[in-house]
Amino acid sequence: MENNSIFIPKKIIGEIILHSLRNDPNESCGVLQGSGQIVSKFHPIRNIHEAPQNRYTMDPGEQRKADDVSDDEGEKIIGIFHSHTHTQAYLSETDVKNALTSGYLEEYYVIVSLVEKTRPVLRAYKISKTGEITEVIVDFDGPKYISR
Ligand SMILES: [Zn+2]
Repeated sequence: MENNSIFIPKKIIGEIILHSLRNDPNESCGVLQGSGQIVSKFHPIRNIHEAPQNRYTMDPGEQRKADDVSDDEGEKIIGIFHSHTHTQAYLSETDVKNALTSGYLEEYYVIVSLVEKTRPVLRAYKISKTGEITEVIVDFDGPKYISR
């Protein structure tokens, strides 16, 4: 597989979207466990930001737990997920700034937009050291009727 795609099983895409809808209108967050470009597990994480409708901060304890689980299972956290409840599924300036500050640049950034509640949109990106955004293809199993 090329470096410009990520494989997320449809079952996991469903879990991510369900988690997003449950927290709406607040932003949701979580991490994706896997190896290489293949996601094997979604860890929903509590958003502890004081303005959760526009920002997210992952609960550090839950994030550590997800790290431990993926270590134990011989995998890594390969993706960072959050939802946009009233903007499109693109990375915001804040998202890029946070990525550069935190140094999480190996990871895929997965975003779900809930602007159209009945038609959530999921997209994925990589962020370079210089803050350049590249969209990556989200690949999944089964019929390809989920909107990207
Ligand atoms: Zn964002």
